Amino acid sequence: MSRQDELGMLRIILEEQYERHSTQLALLARQARQAPGDEGDLAAASALTAASRRALGDIARALHYLEQGRYGTCERCHCDIPIEQLAIRPAAQFCTTCQPEAPHLSGS
Ligand SMILES: [Zn+2]
Repeated sequence: MSRQDELGMLRIILEEQYERHSTQLALLARQARQAPGDEGDLAAASALTAASRRALGDIARALHYLEQGRYGTCERCHCDIPIEQLAIRPAAQFCTTCQPEAPHLSGS
């Protein structure tokens, strides 16, 4: 399978995730209107809402890059991000080497 084919499959994953987070946001909004709940529920719901919004932003950017043919390229070193990594985090902007918050296995 060519990288182009693999990126095409990732587009499907991205679109599914976008759909899922949109649905999640809609459900959270409806839940908030129908059963506001106590403060603990509200905090949990707003944390979920924030996470879904952030994910939607990441996915939208990834889809935008796909359109432009820039998707799957590390924004720092401009290498191709391995497809295995994109499969785990389709919205990844950096390769494993450049990923800022990647846990570093130093030494070994
Ligand atoms: Zn890189």
